[in-house]
Order: sequence, then C-alpha cells, then structure tokens
Amino acid sequence: MEEELDLVAQDKKSWIEVVKNFYHPFIKTLEDKYQSVEKKDLTEKTDRLCPECQSPLVIRMGRYGKFYGCSNFPKCRFTEPLKNNKTGVKCPECQQGEIVEKKSRRGVFYACDRYPDCRFALSDRPTGKKCPKCSSLLVEDKKGRIKCSRKDCDFQEK
Ligand SMILES: [Zn+2]
Ligand SMILES: [Zn+2]
Ligand SMILES: [Zn+2]
Repeated sequence: MEEELDLVAQDKKSWIEVVKNFYHPFIKTLEDKYQSVEKKDLTEKTDRLCPECQSPLVIRMGRYGKFYGCSNFPKCRFTEPLKNNKTGVKCPECQQGEIVEKKSRRGVFYACDRYPDCRFALSDRPTGKKCPKCSSLLVEDKKGRIKCSRKDCDFQEK
C-alpha cells in the first residue's frame, strides 16, 4: 500500500514537470509575439505623462479602439481608456457624427456623438464594416458574432 502511494506521488511530480516544460516555452513565444506586435504598432504622441513612472504617454490602437499607454512599455504597463470612447465609425444616419460608446443604467450602448441632433444608436459595438446585403453597419454582439445591425436583415458573418 505504501509503495503504491509513493508511485502515485512520483507520477504526480513527473506530470507537473511535463506540464512545466510544455508551457514554459509556449508562454515565452506568446510574450515574444506580443512584444513584437507592440513595437510595430503605430502610436501617437501626447503631452501627458505617465502617473506611475513619469514617461510620456502615447496613444495606442488596441482591439477595442484607442487607449493611452506608457511609452516605457513593457517595463511599465500603465494604460488608461480614452475618455471620449470613440469607435472611429462614422454615423450612417447623419454622415457627420461619429459613433461613441456610452453607458446607461441598462449597460453599454453606442450612439452618434451629435445626439440630440442625431438619435442614431446601436446596442452592439459597430465594427466599421458594412453589411454586404443591405450596407447597414455590421456590429459585434455580446457573444462575439459579427452581424448586421438592421433587425430585418439576417446577415451574419461566419
Ligand atoms: Zn509608465
Ligand atoms: Zn448621426
Ligand atoms: Zn444587412
């Protein structure tokens, strides 16, 4: 009985070793990739300073739009969302405003920044692309599906 327990304990140890050896180089590759992508990114200079290390802050482009990041990245990981929450997507209704992210008691929604002059609003984030069927805006819903913002259009990206 004792021998068996020893064996299990040993097995467990070697299993942890295997997992470690497997994940370690994997994590390293991910980090390398992340950093080289970061270096290639176009950044915009700002005149603000990082509150954590006093390096200049730059505006970076992320998956969900622009944000402030520290120019000392990756040493300093300070980030801050841009206050106006612009999506960079032009309002399809008035063709002048821009869609911005807004918060209500019912959650986040997207609306024209010319409100109340223009009352265009979406419940999902616009992607900036247009529907190939009806040329309304395509949006990304909460489950990450890309679909048409028009309720009577059934287009959905696969
Ligand atoms: Zn910093
Ligand atoms: Zn508008
Ligand atoms: Zn459509």
